[in-house]
Amino acid sequence: MKDLYGQAVYKVNVDAGFTCPNRDGSIATGGCIYCNNDSFRPTACTSSSSLLEQINKGIPYLRSRYEAEKFIVYFQPYTNTYASVDILERLYREALAHPGVVGLAIGTRPDCVDEEKIALLEELAKDRFILVEYGLQSIHDKTLAFINRGHDFASFRNALELTKGRGIKIGAHIILGFPTETREEMLDTADVLSGLPIEFLKIHQLQVVRETALAGLHGEKPFPTFGYEEYIAMLADFLERLNPKIILQRLFAAAPDEILIAPIWNKTRSEFLNDLDRYLETTGVFQGRKR
Ligand code: SF4
Repeated sequence: MKDLYGQAVYKVNVDAGFTCPNRDGSIATGGCIYCNNDSFRPTACTSSSSLLEQINKGIPYLRSRYEAEKFIVYFQPYTNTYASVDILERLYREALAHPGVVGLAIGTRPDCVDEEKIALLEELAKDRFILVEYGLQSIHDKTLAFINRGHDFASFRNALELTKGRGIKIGAHIILGFPTETREEMLDTADVLSGLPIEFLKIHQLQVVRETALAGLHGEKPFPTFGYEEYIAMLADFLERLNPKIILQRLFAAAPDEILIAPIWNKTRSEFLNDLDRYLETTGVFQGRKR
């Protein structure tokens, strides 16, 4: 972002009031078994305030805390392409019209885009930074069925086909540690993603959080989750098999203590990143080393 804009660009998270077809009954009602949107949504980001109110609140905070001047509005919770193109266009343009906003990041499901929506994003991407972030979670259909994703891996590939080559940045989001996968199957994900037109990737460890179906399963029959050192070693193995051109946006998750059941690490973001750095230096591992 510094190359593109000459300075760091900060994300303003917003909840534009979307829901999700995996929750409202269009695909399913229960949602993904690990999904509790409170585990990744900042408290200021709530759809009870309008989009503009959220942006107007978020930007001054980032300005005063980081001396930030340029911003990306991040449509984060739920499925942010799950509405008519007219509604999407109004919301996206409203966000882009705000002074200082250079682009959008749009989190969504791969089965919630179509030619019309991608054409809208392509139009916006002509002069703005537009990143669409597809939740994938796993390349393995057995895992996608287990977590009740409501789409398969082929659906993700279709979304990439629709989106690539149109000036829209493409991101993916995956989770490591599902009890349905062996370590080798998790590492296969790095190989497969490396050959796809993905520019950004978010990775994090599976977290069991309260008020989810996964918490119920874990309560009935606890399954192993990553230990802290074990996850760092796993991540290093993953990164050395990953295409070095893929930009990593995230490497771990930290759900609020009040709702996190497992794994409990008690590590801050900077502790985690320092420990990962140290591990990579000691072992000589770097992204793409084994490609
Ligand atoms: S698609 Fe996203 S918002 Fe919908 S249930 Fe799954 S994790 Fe939750």
